[in-house]
Amino acid sequence: MRAGPGATDDLLAAGPSAPVKRPLIPVAAPSLTAREHRYVNQCLRSGWISPRGPFVARFEQRFSRACGARYGVATCNGTAALHLALAVAGVGPGDEVIVPGFTFIATANTAVYLDAKPIFADIDPVTWTLDPTQAARRLTRRTKAIIAVHMYGHPVDMQPLRHLAHRRRLALIEDAAQAPGARYRGARVGSLGDAAVFSFDVTKILTTGEGGMLVTSNRRWAKQARLLRDHGMDPRRHFYHPVIGYNYRMTNLQAAIGVAQVERLRQLLTLRRRHARRYARGLAGVPHLTLPSSAAWADHVYWMYAVLVHPQSGFSRDRFMRALAREGIETRPFFPPVHRQPPYRTNRRLPVVEAVCARGVTLPSGATLTEGEIDRVCRVIRRLLRTPWPT
Ligand SMILES: *Cc1c(COP(=O)(O)O)cnc(C)c1O
Repeated sequence: MRAGPGATDDLLAAGPSAPVKRPLIPVAAPSLTAREHRYVNQCLRSGWISPRGPFVARFEQRFSRACGARYGVATCNGTAALHLALAVAGVGPGDEVIVPGFTFIATANTAVYLDAKPIFADIDPVTWTLDPTQAARRLTRRTKAIIAVHMYGHPVDMQPLRHLAHRRRLALIEDAAQAPGARYRGARVGSLGDAAVFSFDVTKILTTGEGGMLVTSNRRWAKQARLLRDHGMDPRRHFYHPVIGYNYRMTNLQAAIGVAQVERLRQLLTLRRRHARRYARGLAGVPHLTLPSSAAWADHVYWMYAVLVHPQSGFSRDRFMRALAREGIETRPFFPPVHRQPPYRTNRRLPVVEAVCARGVTLPSGATLTEGEIDRVCRVIRRLLRTPWPT
């Protein structure tokens, strides 16, 4: 998930016959302002570039508060935060962890890091997120946790999962990497389970280049996560390690960017929503194209503006992407189903995951996108799918 210089590689991957005719509209690029520059310079001038520095605690406080959670534990990336969340939830050898078949692969990998087994469940065809009924069907005696992934910025239907987790004494973890600021029935993502994890990868809504955070209101879990983040070292006894931990700390440099970004979070979310509205208007009425929907109980933050291209349009998803690439428009396919990836390949079918993943494309969605660029993307799509602008 890299924007910027890596974008060219992605474009090439879309097909060898895709010369760029016009300036590239990237799928995502970070928005960095004078505020980020100021805090990073402050950090450099102070000499505190390591994880020991005041921006880390400030970022943890500001971000966890923005999520409605009591504690924040900043990490070097989102995958590390997810690993810590499962570890403090007590996931271990032989345990099973329910994850949606449609997610970024890290959600499943972190269960394997702990010698547990990810069990894949199907998704809801409208929200593209974990279907609670399907999750319930996959529980066994060995199930230890459920990971609810708020895909592309749309929250999961959490209420049934909370009941399920409560009844069966399971940990409920939110993978909120793609959805800071989203709400479920008015409550903030990050406050809906036992712990939540975020990613600040460069493509994500709030970025620190690389980075992540575990947020929770459980004091014991936060304390344990801090311990594991720092080699399992007792915070009061230098080089005394009561448990085996990891080196998962965030640097003060990353956190300096993070503090600036969290201070701008509202603005970053407004941009995402404004872009989504403009796409929805620009693509209205195009046949065989499904636009993202938002459930009545959801506050969608549109990390990526994601659409489905149906075969009746005359375009396969990949041909559609190549046609956009030829116009200098960078897109991404949906994450392929995790249960079809080589390490996880099974015979189990997840029909909704498979149908959605085969058709899904994310359009340019970064914070630096202009209205003119969105209009251009919409015009190109309307031309490809032979739909004139409404008069
Ligand atoms: C980005 C992402 C992650 C991993 O985050 P990194 O910071 O890249 O390690 C995990 N889960 C989901 C759903 C993501 O989108």
